[in-house]
Amino acid sequence: MRKTPKFLAGLALAMALPGHAATADDLKVATTFTVIADMVRNVAGAHAEVVSITRPGAEIHGYSPTPRDLVAVQDADLIVWNGLNLELWFEQFLGNLDDVPSVRISEGIDPIPISAGSYEGLPNPHAWMSADNAMVYVDNIRDALSDIDPDNAAAYAENAERYKQRIADTIDPLRAAIATIPEDQRWLVTCEGAFSYLARDFGLQEAYLWPMNADQTGTPQQVRAVIDTVRANDVPAVFCESTVNTDPARQVARETGARYGGVLYVDSLSETDGPVPTYLELLRVTTETVVAGLTGEGS
Ligand SMILES: [Zn+2]
Repeated sequence: MRKTPKFLAGLALAMALPGHAATADDLKVATTFTVIADMVRNVAGAHAEVVSITRPGAEIHGYSPTPRDLVAVQDADLIVWNGLNLELWFEQFLGNLDDVPSVRISEGIDPIPISAGSYEGLPNPHAWMSADNAMVYVDNIRDALSDIDPDNAAAYAENAERYKQRIADTIDPLRAAIATIPEDQRWLVTCEGAFSYLARDFGLQEAYLWPMNADQTGTPQQVRAVIDTVRANDVPAVFCESTVNTDPARQVARETGARYGGVLYVDSLSETDGPVPTYLELLRVTTETVVAGLTGEGS
């Protein structure tokens, strides 16, 4: 992480003011998308204002930042981003900011390579869909916050431990629910190949229409290949994500007789009054939708 003159100047000023804790209540943390904004909020607690550059429901890979986005984060103390080629727009965006420190929270995870398309061989960016990786994300957030705000390091450490326990408590029953599905029906067929980490952790076989939303999406060849996979393996259901066009997945369902299992959440939270206002709800709703789709319960 870069430490900047802006930050040091701010720290010196804050320390010079009697009765004013160095940074408490004054931190502003920006994130590139809503999922990691929620993670940062859980670790920061009351000690930071957290904003997401992209809005709930936004397509985040090929997002086009606006001048207003730049203005909104110019005064941030830290920008948290995913990396692994998720936010293709971010490095240019960061370059247009005046020395705002940034941290890449996927640092230290074990990436799964993308197996097709123009991103073949590059790491799959959707690492937050693995609980083990989420623990790494939380530790990286804790360390980044503690670096810029050491006075509250103990609070960040405590919040991080509590949040990691909640992630584990959320994942364990979901893993158990997946295990109730007959093994030959444990397939996760989606629009984007965004579930490689989830599929690996939960023992699901994976197929998808396109590897990355930033690539070609829903070509006739992609649709035909998934139709073949669904037919050959008698896959019970296909799914699609909240941030993309669901028509190609519905076409696969129609042509194969598989169930259309509904919408999965991966790249974005919903609005606060929607179905997945938090990361933990995103994991829970997505996994429960998969179980319900594959077993035919709730449809
Ligand atoms: Zn994605």
